[in-house]
Amino acid sequence: MKSWTDYLWFQTEKRQEFINITDRVEEAVIKSGVKEGLCLVNAMHITASVFINDDEQGLHHDFSAWLEKLAPHSPGSYQHNLTGETNADAHLKRTIMGREVVVAVTGGKLDLGPWEQIFYGEFDGQRRKRVLIKIIGE
Ligand code: ZN
Repeated sequence: MKSWTDYLWFQTEKRQEFINITDRVEEAVIKSGVKEGLCLVNAMHITASVFINDDEQGLHHDFSAWLEKLAPHSPGSYQHNLTGETNADAHLKRTIMGREVVVAVTGGKLDLGPWEQIFYGEFDGQRRKRVLIKIIGE
C-alpha cells in the first residue's frame, strides 16, 4: 500500500473566507502516485472547515448569511469568549460546515461528482493555518 501526506497552508486576508482547494488536492493525488484509494482532507484547526459543495458565488454568500444567522459574530454573547477569546462563533461555524472530507481516488484522479468542489472554510482567519491531506491506496 502507498501512503502520501501533504500540508496546505493558509493565511486569509479576511476573517471569513471560502477557498477552492480542489486543484491543490488533485496535485497531491498525482504526486502520491496512488491510482486506487482514498484521499482524506481535513482542517487542523478548530475554527476552520473542509467541505465539498458548488463553486458558485451566490451560494457562498448564502452560506455566510446562514452561518451568521445561526452563530452571529457577537463576541459578548458566548461563554467561550469569557476566556478572553472572541471566536466562539467560529468554533460553531466550523462544527456546522465540518472538519474533513474523504474522496475516492479512481484511475489516479479524485472521483468527484460533476459539481463537487473541495473548499477550505476559514472562520477566524488572518493567521497561519494548516490543512492535512492523507492519501492511501495502490
Ligand atoms: Zn476559541
